[in-house]
Amino acid sequence: MIPALTDLAASAPLYASFLAKLRVRGVAGELTGGIADRTVLVTDNSIYQLRPEAVAFPRDRDDLVRIGTLLADPRFSEMRIAPRGGGTGTNGQSLSGGLMVVTSRHMNRILEIYVAAKTVRVEAGVVKDQLNRALAPHSLFFAPELSTSNRATIGGMVSTDACGQGSCLYGKTRDHVRALTCVLTNGQVWTSRPLGAEELAVVSAWPAPECARSLVLVQDAFTTHYETPLVLALLGLLTDLGFRRWLAPFLPNGKPLHVHGFLRAFARQAGRKARMLKELSASGIGLVGLDPSMTLTCRAGYVAALGAGAAAPVRIVQEWLAARLADRPTAGPARDYLLLPHCTERTNAAAALRDWHVVFASLGHRLTILPSGCCGMAGTYGHDAEHRATSEWIYGLSWAAHVGCAGHLLADGYSCRSQTRLIDGVGLPHPIQALLGCLHPPGRSTRIAA
Ligand SMILES: Cc1cc2nc3c(=O)[nH]c(=O)nc-3n(C[C@H](O)[C@H](O)[C@H](O)COP(=O)(O)OP(=O)(O)OC[C@H]3O[C@@H](n4cnc5c(N)ncnc54)[C@H](O)[C@@H]3O)c2cc1C
Repeated sequence: MIPALTDLAASAPLYASFLAKLRVRGVAGELTGGIADRTVLVTDNSIYQLRPEAVAFPRDRDDLVRIGTLLADPRFSEMRIAPRGGGTGTNGQSLSGGLMVVTSRHMNRILEIYVAAKTVRVEAGVVKDQLNRALAPHSLFFAPELSTSNRATIGGMVSTDACGQGSCLYGKTRDHVRALTCVLTNGQVWTSRPLGAEELAVVSAWPAPECARSLVLVQDAFTTHYETPLVLALLGLLTDLGFRRWLAPFLPNGKPLHVHGFLRAFARQAGRKARMLKELSASGIGLVGLDPSMTLTCRAGYVAALGAGAAAPVRIVQEWLAARLADRPTAGPARDYLLLPHCTERTNAAAALRDWHVVFASLGHRLTILPSGCCGMAGTYGHDAEHRATSEWIYGLSWAAHVGCAGHLLADGYSCRSQTRLIDGVGLPHPIQALLGCLHPPGRSTRIAA
């Protein structure tokens, strides 16, 4: 028997007020806090259920901008939001107990097909089979395959990097995205696309001082995929400090292969990444990584696998910042922070720890680096069940006591932050997040740092 719905609660006041304000701002699509609409969107193709407080069916990009702009209003800073395409995700990704923004109802227009360039411009809610029906008369097709192609949308496919049968030959969704225009949660419209050859030539001809104020962020799998707000915080801080930043295309650096001893596979992956880094560094702009351990893999690890000179130098973020902020006049009020650094950084790039001092001092703050060893996670070591007890024992040698102490404690290693969360339930911020927080105290915070 189908269970009766008994909980017919109206939208929470915050969400009801948000919808009312959106209506005044002229959103063209439907906005609803109705129980029926909210209930049918409780599930996707996962085992999870979560009822949204409100649902929006935007008609176009302008509607999304209206939603994002209103979200930036501090009165709505507690709201949660999730986009939804076809709702075919298997992990509950599109479910939300907040505002659900459904693109598949209206934003499903195929805008232009450029047959000669084999390129198509679509809205995010276009369904994969719909796109291929439109492309078929031109003997073209959108290659990434997935079993739910009669419901899954391009927005959902991009977000999940969908792939399936045929992907070994044709690649994943990410291999077919030429450009993305996104509406951020502050209403800003942001277009991301690779630089063309002409633009690259212009960048390569920049004078040295201009190059020195620019960097290319070399993404790593951990911060990009599991700590995206940290990556956004770095981009936000760099902007606030007046630097120009570019994002290198994501390419794995092979570290997990290395730590598990697959050295030949590591060398192959390292070779691919090293080639990309060399091409990027030819522009004269510095390459910078966020996670110390992942970044150091591109240094010592690549030299060992490929030989000296095979890879372009990648700096850890504080190494790059310290060289540019050292002469900056300090600004107050000063705050005190304590840093638990990644042990690989301590052993393989000790000078980079001093660079954190320079960066904090340049921005008017004080940093103390605590005496600590390995947190016990050691890459993926602590994730293996058979290593867990030893991993926790290692944590107890130095980290446990520090994490239990008062003070603004920071950690710059992804694996270390994972370990403190696992063992003590403490989420330590990265130094970059602390610095951005100083520039944007509560009440003035930007969503990019949230
Ligand atoms: C039976 C079955 C078979 C499947 N087979 C495959 C397969 O072969 N290969 C595969 O890769 N996947 C497969 N999936 C998973 C799923 O179909 C894909 O992840 C698909 O890409 C999701 O698309 P969607 O439009 O349904 O996204 P949704 O489920 O609606 O959302 C997925 C994620 O994308 C985000 N999102 C959606 N639209 C946007 C947008 N416009 N902007 C930003 N973020 C957005 C959502 O917030 C959510 O995080 C399968 C699922 C099922 C149930």
